[in-house]
Amino acid sequence: MDSALSVSAVSKAYGPRRVLHEVSLEVRAGERVALLGHNGAGKTTLMKLALGLVPADSGSISVGGAAAGSAAAREAAAYLPEALAFHPALTGREQLGLFARLAGVSRAVVPGLLDRVGLGDAADRRIGTWSKGMRQRLGLAQMLLGRPALALLDEPTSGLDPVSRYELYAIVDEMAGQGTAVLVASHALTELEARTDRIAILREGRMVACDALARLRDEAGLPVRLRVTARGERAADLQARIGGARLNGASVEILCPPSQKMARLAEIAGLGGLVADLDVAQPSLEDIYRHYSGGASP
Ligand code: ATP
Repeated sequence: MDSALSVSAVSKAYGPRRVLHEVSLEVRAGERVALLGHNGAGKTTLMKLALGLVPADSGSISVGGAAAGSAAAREAAAYLPEALAFHPALTGREQLGLFARLAGVSRAVVPGLLDRVGLGDAADRRIGTWSKGMRQRLGLAQMLLGRPALALLDEPTSGLDPVSRYELYAIVDEMAGQGTAVLVASHALTELEARTDRIAILREGRMVACDALARLRDEAGLPVRLRVTARGERAADLQARIGGARLNGASVEILCPPSQKMARLAEIAGLGGLVADLDVAQPSLEDIYRHYSGGASP
């Protein structure tokens, strides 16, 4: 598939501070990639480089096959920044109409787009009276105007309620389904887990991991958690047989390498009446993130 975003060995410094070190990343048409990293890791800087808002010191970036910053690359990319500023005195319909004109798109698409992002009813109210979630949706509608080859979303769900988050990702999925390459920077790991095809992790400006979650999980070799609940009051018996740590009066938790999981499960199944229940928890994206980022908070 085509690479909508191609970042190759890019470095960037602000004055004496090196912010990105030889970063490479490809995002293909229709692919959704999560960009993770601690505060200051360089996520927003990478997006600004892709948009041509700041120049790279070395390396190369192309968007839709064109050099970042060129007219063709700017046209191919859409950006949803974390803090969105719209004119508070305009209504949603007026603002999106203005964006449509700037993008050279017919205003006839505006009502349909407002409906699609759930703003049909609010379209004729001034944006100054809107909630943060409504403004984020207007930002999404703006992104959808140009059918971009690449969508860059910087912490799109911060401050949104769970339903708005869900709806935002549904629209992102739809964009990806139509061939847009999506790069989402976020600290909300749990919601990204099921929503992205690949995970890219920046640590102090270096790309320390970039792969599908399942592959990162395998590569990290983090332990699987087995939570075993004893029948009756027999947690002490259970612990004596399988080891691990008591979680409470009824359950024991053991950590085992992925390669030993099936053997441990067979062992537990062999305990028969001593076991009332069993939960298997794979390492979460948060565990994997901590592994690759050296323990930094997401
Ligand atoms: P966050 O998760 O907090 O949004 P981030 O990963 O997006 O962080 P960036 O905004 O890319 O991080 O910032 C990376 C580093 O570059 C930080 O140390 C920041 O202070 C610095 N930086 C960003 N923009 C500038 C600028 N215009 N001038 C100087 N330093 C900057």
